[in-house]
Amino acid sequence: MKILVVEDEPKTGTYLKQGLMETGFVVDLANDGLDGLHLALTEAYDLAILDVMLPGVDGWQVLQRIRKAGKDMPVLFLTARDQVEDRVKGLELGADDYLVKPFAFSELLARVRTLLRRGGKSKESEVLRAADLELDLLRRRVTRAGKRIDLTAKEFALLELLLRRQGEVLPRSLIASQVWDMNFDSDTNVIEVAIKRLRLKVDDDFEPKLIHTVRGMGYVLETQS
Ligand code: CA
Repeated sequence: MKILVVEDEPKTGTYLKQGLMETGFVVDLANDGLDGLHLALTEAYDLAILDVMLPGVDGWQVLQRIRKAGKDMPVLFLTARDQVEDRVKGLELGADDYLVKPFAFSELLARVRTLLRRGGKSKESEVLRAADLELDLLRRRVTRAGKRIDLTAKEFALLELLLRRQGEVLPRSLIASQVWDMNFDSDTNVIEVAIKRLRLKVDDDFEPKLIHTVRGMGYVLETQS
């Protein structure tokens, strides 16, 4: 799955590219509209993420020219919070969805998956498993030993990340960038608290324990004893 990201803000661009690559996508990043347009017209992408405010050729023009050239890949727009009319305009021009900045990476990923699925292109597995724990991405449902577990959106995103990267120790900074938004301060204990709550729901009444703390390093989900 190849994704084109057109974003002029270096911080956001890098954040998107890294996050998507860590999730397993191939990503091209263009820093302005002209580059983005060139890539969109010459390369094959499964999806494009377009920032609206770009120097030179803006996101609207990029989208218009992409559609005019007959490219029908799904397009996700990134807009600023106060630009409601932008969203309407984007959808009229043929964008498939939009996301308001700042956003959590998990939210972006959910949109990307929905768009890819709608295009019938996603071959991704829809259920993630570890021992008797199951996370159903489509139904947004988690069960352990067949018992339904209710999670908040953040807890769900956190568990999804841990399951995807099973056996890997995930540093807080990575968890912060994937589950919270890019400006999130990972020095706070928010992640710790969220992990604690997740454990309470997913591990406390069950064996084996799945979520483990690796002191000084981060967290890992694995079926160790
Ligand atoms: Ca911009």
